[in-house]
Amino acid sequence: MGHSLVAGVDIGGTCIRAGLVSEQGEILSSREWPTRDFPEPEKLVNLLAIECQKMAEEHSGYTWVGTGIGAPNGNFFRGTIEFAPNLSWKGIVPLAEQIEQKTGKTCLLTNDANAGALGEMLFGAAKNMHDFLFITLGTGLGSGIVCGGRLVYGHDGFAGELGHVIVNPGGRLCGCGRKGCLETYCSATGLIMTYREIHSGGKPESFGKPQNITAKHIYELAMQGEAEALNAFEQFSKTLGEALANAVAITSPESIFLFGGLASADDLIIPKTKKYMEASLLPIFQNKVQILCSGLPENDAAILGAASLVWNQLKKS
Ligand SMILES: [Zn+2]
Repeated sequence: MGHSLVAGVDIGGTCIRAGLVSEQGEILSSREWPTRDFPEPEKLVNLLAIECQKMAEEHSGYTWVGTGIGAPNGNFFRGTIEFAPNLSWKGIVPLAEQIEQKTGKTCLLTNDANAGALGEMLFGAAKNMHDFLFITLGTGLGSGIVCGGRLVYGHDGFAGELGHVIVNPGGRLCGCGRKGCLETYCSATGLIMTYREIHSGGKPESFGKPQNITAKHIYELAMQGEAEALNAFEQFSKTLGEALANAVAITSPESIFLFGGLASADDLIIPKTKKYMEASLLPIFQNKVQILCSGLPENDAAILGAASLVWNQLKKS
């Protein structure tokens, strides 16, 4: 096992990345392709089998032993991608089985946030931690829950969807078809909507100006002291802090890791989220749970997380 390499594959809405990861969490080689080049999953299966083998041959003395995949709506138990909203693949795709058949090597699959949580545990800031939450703040909000050193998959394999906890019944329409989910408020998209609402005098759905603003721009305005931008970050932190207080009541984590560009937005999110979380926590949990920035390098996290699915299994056996 000393010279094994695991392929970590991240399937996203715009691009697919694959890299070979050592036991120490180094990415030795990686490749990237546009997702639109794969209208059928079979084309990806064939390409991965060839490209991972090629990458492995670049490193003499190493053997490619298995493949881990992070994908939207990935189901760990079935190795399937099910009804992914951001992919052109429809229905249920048994991707892990197809890759195992093609490569003759283990393939494990889960959703991207669960993979990120395992990556944090094996290669990031959660080493030696057994109970923590991992939250990705991107276009949406993803989460992975680790309890007792194990990722929580639940009965059906989809557990850990904090982004779709309803925090405002009847509120903003979510991509999942329901209203008021946490990710419609606490994500880059949510921040932009909040900022637009503040500008339009609080009227929802009436965005007014400015039309094309990005989360990064709102961040820059906040750093310059613009009141509306600071207010948008304040509301973001309040909603997130309250939701995390509820998550703490259910899982009692040691730490909560925030991952993504927004998480590292200086002092705009973490200290305020911590303040609002503490104000909403059950007294028995107060001052016991840290909120920390992820220790995974942002550009490599998806590949490391996906590979950690297989590394985690190899370490257990
Ligand atoms: Zn939702």
